[in-house]
Amino acid sequence: MEKEFEGKVSLVTGASRGIGKAITVKLASLGCKVAVNYRSNDEQAAKVISEIESAGGRAMLAKCDIADSGAVKAMFKDIVAKWEKVDILVNNAGIVKDNLLLRMRDADWDDVLNTNLKGAYLCTKFALRTMMDNNWGRVINISSLAGIVGNMGQANYSASKGGLIAFTKAVAREVGARNITSNVICPGYIVTEMTGSAFPEEVQKELLARIPLQRFGTPDDIANTIAFLASDSASYLTAQVISIDGGII
Ligand code: NDP
Repeated sequence: MEKEFEGKVSLVTGASRGIGKAITVKLASLGCKVAVNYRSNDEQAAKVISEIESAGGRAMLAKCDIADSGAVKAMFKDIVAKWEKVDILVNNAGIVKDNLLLRMRDADWDDVLNTNLKGAYLCTKFALRTMMDNNWGRVINISSLAGIVGNMGQANYSASKGGLIAFTKAVAREVGARNITSNVICPGYIVTEMTGSAFPEEVQKELLARIPLQRFGTPDDIANTIAFLASDSASYLTAQVISIDGGII
C-alpha cells in the first residue's frame, strides 16, 4: 500500500534533535522525503539521517543557519536540485536566551528574534515559491504557549513566538488561493534538551498541578499533530493556532 506522503518533500528546521527530530522521523516513516536542517551539530544530524535511512526512509542533510538569508537561499537550492520542490515546511528551529527585560542584552534580543522569527520568514519565502508552482503546500510553524501568554524572563522568546502566530495568519491569507495552508502549533511543556533540566523538582510539581492530563508532553505528541496538518485530511484547515499543552491552565 502506498504511504501517505509518498512523493512529497519536507523541510523541518532544527531537526537534529528534540521536537524537530520527532517530526522529521514521523514524516519519513509515512513516505516523505525529508531534508534535515540544523545549524551546528553535524554528529547529531548524521544520526538522524542514518536512523531514517535504516528504517527505509529518504533523507538529506540541510545544514544552515536559518537566520542567514544567503545560507537559506543556498539550502533551498540544494534541496530543489535533489528533489525538485518542498511541499511541507515545518519552521521548528528555535532558541532561548532568557533574562529579565531590564538585564537583557541587545545581542540576546537580536539572536532570538533572528532565529525564531526571521528564520521562519526566510524559509517560508523560499518554500512558497516551490509550493506555488505545484499548487499545493503546507506551512506549519512551531510557536509556544509563551507566544500566547508571555513568560517572565522571556520577553525576547515570547515576542518571537507571538510574532510567529501573526505571521502564520498573514501567510494563510496570502497563499490560501494557491491551495497552501498555514497553521501554527503552540506546545506547552515538552520534554527535550531545551527544557530537560531547566526546572527544579518543586517547579515541575507546580507545573504538573496546572496540567489536567498530569504529564509533560513528548516530541511525538507534537509530531502526530503535524502529520495530520500536513496530510490531505487537513486541507480545509488554515490560519489556526493549535495548542498542544495537556490543557494547561
Ligand atoms: P532543541 O533545543 O532540542 O533543538 C533545537 C534545534 O534547532 C536543534 O536541531 C538546533 O540545531 C536547531 N537550531 C537552533 N538554532 C538554529 C539556527 N539558527 N538555524 C538552524 N537550526 C537551528 O529544541 P526543542 O526541540 O525543545 O524545541 C523545538 C521548537 O519547539 C523550538 O522552536 C521551541 O521554541 C519550541 N517549543 C519547545 C517547547 C519545549 O517544551 N521543548 C515548548 C514550546 C515550544 P543545532 O543543535 O545544530 O544548533
